[in-house]
Amino acid sequence: MIRLELAGAHTRLHSTLCSACPQGPTGCCASPPGVEWSDIGRIVSLGGAGWLLEQMAAGTLRAGPRGLLILRVAPHRSDGQAPSKRCAFHGPEGCTIPPWRRAATCNYYICDDAFAHGGELRGDPAALAGREAHDALVDLYGNWDLELADRIHAAWPDGPPWNQDFLHWLGREYARLAARAESTGCPSLFPTKTGTHS
Ligand code: SF4
Ligand code: SF4
Repeated sequence: MIRLELAGAHTRLHSTLCSACPQGPTGCCASPPGVEWSDIGRIVSLGGAGWLLEQMAAGTLRAGPRGLLILRVAPHRSDGQAPSKRCAFHGPEGCTIPPWRRAATCNYYICDDAFAHGGELRGDPAALAGREAHDALVDLYGNWDLELADRIHAAWPDGPPWNQDFLHWLGREYARLAARAESTGCPSLFPTKTGTHS
């Protein structure tokens, strides 16, 4: 089953398959996504600038070419088996950070197996609405990242300074892009504006 929590750029998708992931108990969190420019802006816009700097100081997040990269760790295993690496934010009960501190991908991505399990091929309405929202978010965040990358490169050709001023600039840029997207209207993501989904 697919469950869609429609909330514009903060939309979340859930699949019942994830609790029995065919890829193993860590699921997608074995390979965490990058925290890209738009994700950083989103996290800052939700009050997370200090938290990001703390995670960078702790080494859980580090600067990368398109934003931040999440550390992968191999947790200790008491059974002597070789541990597999996973996202540093992954714990025994799953993700240890709230949705507003995650990359958007962590909130909206589900795999093709999950869509198939949720009945996409049978035309299940929740799966179809989920796919529509998923694809719209891929486009939305992808375009935002390209636009932000251009602006960052123009302003800081040697790379941005990782400080409060830069993070808050990204937060304002994110807010500008999000407001533009909402005013432009995307039926699969902003239902209150368009009334397309109930
Ligand atoms: S989205 Fe797919 S790969 Fe990821 S945890 Fe769910 S079932 Fe596993
Ligand atoms: S931040 Fe959370 S949801 Fe995203 S990869 Fe890491 S553990 Fe998984």
